[in-house]
Amino acid sequence: MQCIKCGNLKDKVVDSREAKGALAIRRRRECLNCGYRFTTYEQLERSDIHVVKRNGARESLKRNKLLDGLVKACEKRPVSIEVLESAADEIISEIQIEGIREVPTQTIGARVMKSLETIDPVAYVRYASVYRQFQEVGEFIEEIQSLESRPSTGARHPDFFSQ
Ligand SMILES: [Zn+2]
Repeated sequence: MQCIKCGNLKDKVVDSREAKGALAIRRRRECLNCGYRFTTYEQLERSDIHVVKRNGARESLKRNKLLDGLVKACEKRPVSIEVLESAADEIISEIQIEGIREVPTQTIGARVMKSLETIDPVAYVRYASVYRQFQEVGEFIEEIQSLESRPSTGARHPDFFSQ
């Protein structure tokens, strides 16, 4: 990046963060010549990310497909579509910020599980059981026990363990 004050071409990035709803990365730069600080925005293109399936096939990462998975896991759960939409956006922007161009389906699945874990415990177990294809029943039970031993998050899911 060219310094807008002295025209020097060398700078260092002092800070990077998401901007404009994660469609851009905002970088704070410092000119190595005069020390002037300026900000640049890098636009992100969602279609750049590809998902690599287990059989090696590739397809572009689609927000709708990701969202469908989240919606399915949260079927009949008290979770709003807005929460799931922002979860899908968050997953995509996390991958974008890491600058990854190809993501294995397992990685996407792991990220979906991570966000479902905080959104809804039932949806999390539901998704995890399908996704991981739990090899042993014991593993599944461990998962449930680890959820049960967690301190309650309050009034958000009061009906979970009484069902
Ligand atoms: Zn400069």
